Amino acid sequence: MSDIQCQGCGATIQTINPEQPGYAPASALEREEVICKRCFRLKHYNEVQDVPYQDDDFLEMLNQISNNEGLVVQLVDIFDFNGSFIPGLKRLTGNNPVLLVGNKMDVLPKSVNQGKVKLWLKKSAKDLGLKVEDVHLISAEKNQGVEKLSKAIDEMRTGRDVYIVGTTNVGKSTFINTLIANTSGVKEAITTSYFPGTTLGFIDIPLDEASSLYDTPGVIHRHQMAHYVSDQDLKVITPRKEIKPKVYQLNPEQTLYFGGLARLDFNIGDRSSFICYFSNELNIHRTKLEKADELYSNHLGELLTPPDKETIEKLPPLKEHTFKIKGEKMDIVFSGLGWVTVPEGNITVTAHVPEGVKVSLRESLI
Ligand code: GDP
Repeated sequence: MSDIQCQGCGATIQTINPEQPGYAPASALEREEVICKRCFRLKHYNEVQDVPYQDDDFLEMLNQISNNEGLVVQLVDIFDFNGSFIPGLKRLTGNNPVLLVGNKMDVLPKSVNQGKVKLWLKKSAKDLGLKVEDVHLISAEKNQGVEKLSKAIDEMRTGRDVYIVGTTNVGKSTFINTLIANTSGVKEAITTSYFPGTTLGFIDIPLDEASSLYDTPGVIHRHQMAHYVSDQDLKVITPRKEIKPKVYQLNPEQTLYFGGLARLDFNIGDRSSFICYFSNELNIHRTKLEKADELYSNHLGELLTPPDKETIEKLPPLKEHTFKIKGEKMDIVFSGLGWVTVPEGNITVTAHVPEGVKVSLRESLI
């Protein structure tokens, strides 16, 4: 069979993997004009679906942006900043200004100071070599902050195009669909358009006579916790509702297990309270440090779940990261899982996470 290209976006049609570009059900091949499922949904329901790309194709696509003038809007998942941030974005998009948008703010506990979240996002981006013009927090799903963001985009773009970029799973499709739903009148005009040197089209949503908002494909980021766990486990670890913090009074030499996916040892310090912010469905298990290894080897996948069986097969071994904390209270952030607020004082803790998953320290958001 020779390659058939999608008439909408140019991707090579395949009938094997619905999650990959160019997927169409076998029955679609009999039609005269073959389009992929993504373009089908766009055409008939005005609904945008994200398609993942492997690094090389994706980076080349993003690189096209540097040849054009416009505003780049990067979406990240507040719960997985390190897993969802696109490294090297500055190099890829040239001198174009970048607006950073933290999505999924609906699951943050009300006690979290949003100003601090914005400052943390801005600083984290800067540490990774990206100076951003501004930071916005939204919930694409609950339509919170989207209106305000639309206005900011319109002011900042000064008549130029807008490019929405993000890794898979940050909520980019949800965001674009909310944007489309909020802006009546544009529905009929959405198309896909090619960029030079690429096959897959960017989704083109006209903003005015001369400029457009482009949705780019998503890239798979291997260090996202989401890629190490089964679909079932992903449902457990992804917060769906406002997080209810859980408080643990710990003595030194005690350990907390977050399911069996991560662990925090309290090595040195006075008895104090540790506040855990994870999905409400994730079980936290307290034990003595001296028993922690044994518990893991004997009860992983039973007492300590997730991981389930499927996850255990692909989960990398846990790796240790030790932090000595002095002064202010700090958050130990387990990228893609949640965080623990450690009280002020003189404290040493050791975090254990699957190799490749990032753990970092930030000033407490509360
Ligand atoms: P994409 O791969 O970036 O296009 O991401 P999707 O739009 O498919 O969303 C990925 C997951 O995040 C889905 O399970 C969405 O339901 C969820 N999601 C998207 N936006 C939000 C949000 O604002 N809040 C919450 N809690 N979940 C969201």
